[in-house]
Amino acid sequence: MSTALAAHTLLAVAALLALGFHRNRALQLLLLLLLAALALADGRPRLVEAALRFIPLLLVACALLPEPRLLSRRHLALLLAIGVLGGIAWAGPAHVHRGLADAAAWLVFDLPAPRGASLLAGLAAGLCLLRWTFTGRPMEFGLVAVLALGAAAFGFGGSAAGDIAFAAAAGTAILSVLYASYRMAFIDPLSGLPNRRALDETLGRLSGGFALAMVDVDHFKQFNDTYGHDAGDLVLRAVGRALRRHGGGRAHRYGGEEFCLVFEGGRVKQAAAACEAAREAVQALRIAVPAPSPKRGKISAIKRPEVEVSVTISIGLATRGEGRRGTSEVLKAADQALYRAKGKGRNRVVEA
Ligand code: GH3
Ligand code: MG
Ligand code: MG
Repeated sequence: MSTALAAHTLLAVAALLALGFHRNRALQLLLLLLLAALALADGRPRLVEAALRFIPLLLVACALLPEPRLLSRRHLALLLAIGVLGGIAWAGPAHVHRGLADAAAWLVFDLPAPRGASLLAGLAAGLCLLRWTFTGRPMEFGLVAVLALGAAAFGFGGSAAGDIAFAAAAGTAILSVLYASYRMAFIDPLSGLPNRRALDETLGRLSGGFALAMVDVDHFKQFNDTYGHDAGDLVLRAVGRALRRHGGGRAHRYGGEEFCLVFEGGRVKQAAAACEAAREAVQALRIAVPAPSPKRGKISAIKRPEVEVSVTISIGLATRGEGRRGTSEVLKAADQALYRAKGKGRNRVVEA
């Protein structure tokens, strides 16, 4: 298989994957890169010029605009723009093509076509980078790499090196879509910790000695009632970070204001000490949240001054042993120990 064919196939596979996983911006960008790669491989001067002068402008537009729904007017507008520009490049009057190509060249300071195309693809990459710094979404970061490789491909023109760069862009897009989807399935977006589904997977694979700790934030309903749900979310984020750092085991968000620590192998012996360290670490946290407003909803959270709050957690710990062999039995024992920790006054670790 030639490098060109391999690049085109990979770009098409990446676009299909993006379609299947509802990554619509990635879908748009990959379709544009595929069209550019096909036109550059074709080699007809007007098609090559269209690939280097028109498509990079569309890449910038796609990177700039918010992610569209699949069946949206914006998608239709993009398809229309591709159809019109493609039609002009393919069989339109020569003077119309020339005029449009010259106008597009003027936009990139009349740089030679490959360099102008690289510049615009680089600009699109920069826009995705900017969006990633604000949203932290891994897919946007993946698109930065895809577009940077696209910029390199444009710079190489229709050469084999260009095809390799297009193939690398497609490979990066495939990995980005898979990684972003993995995160969506297994990572809790609020705390950044593995979620309940990931915990179930982990529990299913456990063998040998292990210990489980159920962690619950104390009086959290009251906290939400006093400071509001948004402040509660900030607290859950901070507690999640503290558990990840000090929990000793692998921390998961179990659901709501409950977390689960999984201790395996050599960590089992230190589980009780680690739980105590986690409890102390959470107690020591001073979390800045917006002060409660007298009439909630009247003053926006942005305008409210900040106050420092602290919370405590209760932990129930259970180790696999005689009488409880399975993960569900150990989890149940940990839950019962947690219940006892609450009964004894909270802010403590109780072992089953
Ligand atoms: P206890 O000390 O007995 O655990 O009391 P509690 O108030 O923490 O327990 P309860 O189960 O009655 O309340 C849990 C609260 O956690 C209720 C719900 O509003 C809050 N909560 C659950 N999930 C979230 C979330 O994602 N964000 C916020 N802010 N609050 C949540
Ligand atoms: Mg609870
Ligand atoms: Mg609670």
